[in-house]
Amino acid sequence: MAGQPGPASGPLHIVGGPNTGGCIAGAISLPPEGPGFQTIHLDRSAFWGAPSTIAHLEQFGTEAAAAGMPTLLVEDISRARGGPLPGGHVSHQIGLDADVGLDMRPRPPLSDSARETIELHSMVRPDGRGVDPSVWSPREIALLRMAAALPEVDRILVNPAIKQQLCGEVTGDRSWLHLIRPWYGHAAHMHIRFRCPAGQADCVQAAPPPTGDGCDATLQWWFDQLDAPAKPSAPYKAPPAPAACRAILSER
Ligand SMILES: [Zn+2]
Repeated sequence: MAGQPGPASGPLHIVGGPNTGGCIAGAISLPPEGPGFQTIHLDRSAFWGAPSTIAHLEQFGTEAAAAGMPTLLVEDISRARGGPLPGGHVSHQIGLDADVGLDMRPRPPLSDSARETIELHSMVRPDGRGVDPSVWSPREIALLRMAAALPEVDRILVNPAIKQQLCGEVTGDRSWLHLIRPWYGHAAHMHIRFRCPAGQADCVQAAPPPTGDGCDATLQWWFDQLDAPAKPSAPYKAPPAPAACRAILSER
C-alpha cells in the first residue's frame, strides 16, 4: 500500500494474537512475484510478515509450481508494522496470516494490470450449501492439502461448503482435515495462519483446533445458520492495539 511507513526496525518482535489484534517489528516483505506465486491487488493489499511466514509462502509457491499448479495468487498478509488492515479484520495484524486464491483452473500468470483488477473466483455456489461444480476439482483439494503440510501451520480457514466438500471427498489420509476449519466468507481464498514463531513471548498462540477431522455437528452448525441466520451483530469494532504496540506502531 502506498504511503504506509516501512517496517519497524530491530529483531522480530510479534505482539498480540489472531483474536486481539497486534503488531510486528522486524517484518519482511514477500516479493511481488517469485517461483510459483504472484501478489495481487498491490494498490490496496499488504505483503509484510514474519520472516518465517514469507519463507513458508515462498515454499508454497515452489511446491505448487513443481506440482504443475497455476501461479498462486497471494492477497493480504500484513502491513509493514502490522495493526489493522483496511476492512477491519482482527487477524492479519501480526504477520502470521496470508490469503491465497483457491481457483486452480489452468491459466497463465497474470499481467500487471490483471493483478490489480482480478477478483478471485468463488468456489462456492451462491446459496452457500455446496461448492460450485463448474469450478471445483481435485486440484483445489491438492492445493489445500499442500498448504496444510507447510511448516508451522496453525489452521487454514475456508468456507464451510469447501470444508464439507473435503469431508465427503478426501480418501486415504484424512489427518490434515484437522487443520482445515470452516469460517465466514473464504469462498475464493484460503486464509493460512501460521503459529507463533519460537521465542516470541508476546505472540499469543490460539488454542489448537479441536481433535478429529471436524466433519461433525460443528460443521453442520454453519449450514443450520443458513436456515436461521443469527441476528445481525453489532458493527465490528477493532480492539485497541496492545500497549506494547505503541512503540512499534509509532517508531519513526
Ligand atoms: Zn485472511
